[in-house]
Amino acid sequence: MNKPDQLTVRVKRQDNPQAKPYWEEYRIKFRPYMNVITLLQDLRKNPRTFDGRLTSAIAWEASCLEEVCGTCTMVINGKVRQACSALVHMLGEQITIEPMSKFPVVRDLIVDRSAIFKNFKRVKAWVPIDGTHALGPGPRISPEDALENYQLSRCIACGCCMEACPQFNERSDFIGAAAINQVRLFNAHPTGKVLKKDRLGALMGEGGIEDCGNAQNCVKACPKEIPLVTSIIEVNRQITFSLLDLFKK
Ligand code: SF4
Repeated sequence: MNKPDQLTVRVKRQDNPQAKPYWEEYRIKFRPYMNVITLLQDLRKNPRTFDGRLTSAIAWEASCLEEVCGTCTMVINGKVRQACSALVHMLGEQITIEPMSKFPVVRDLIVDRSAIFKNFKRVKAWVPIDGTHALGPGPRISPEDALENYQLSRCIACGCCMEACPQFNERSDFIGAAAINQVRLFNAHPTGKVLKKDRLGALMGEGGIEDCGNAQNCVKACPKEIPLVTSIIEVNRQITFSLLDLFKK
């Protein structure tokens, strides 16, 4: 466990979506129990670079501060993760902080993650309901299935799996592991599976499951420990069976 007095922090900054990125370096006093969000808050209180020059406050996003909202995803010391759970004493005396590289930068450490939600829409990642009136109790789900589905439902749309994936970038249309995991989750739901065909169909086209290169970085990057590789294998299996059914007809 490393507890230095002073930290050197390098932050990759960008003033607006069109501007060129640039690096700034700061010195900051170490405080016990700091995480990267409190470090950024301290920098914001006195935004001066290493050589004493007054600079603009760094922009970042954070909300829940307990790895649930997914908004504070950043690349910290080269690893994509949540800033709220990145404890400074575990990061060494030199810390680099960058925005995710696979999503458009809005400003500094804030990126536009709307591609994640668009991809969830592509695969109809929801349970369809017939209006908002009471429909009575839903179908029963065994505790074993509920437990398995709960694990899959823990996705916080943070983008870590996409940032770590070599196939997910601005030149490819690959949908990413998170959306494929949503297909597994909602296809396993007794009501949600009514849209199973549509979901599998969405993954058979361009940017679908075939574009997965099997790097398996996604499962290592996921802060919620979702078994993403297993989800990809399972959804691939569902697609194969749905194609076999087509040939039987
Ligand atoms: Fe983040 Fe994991 Fe969801 Fe990917 S699957 S967006 S890494 S929580």
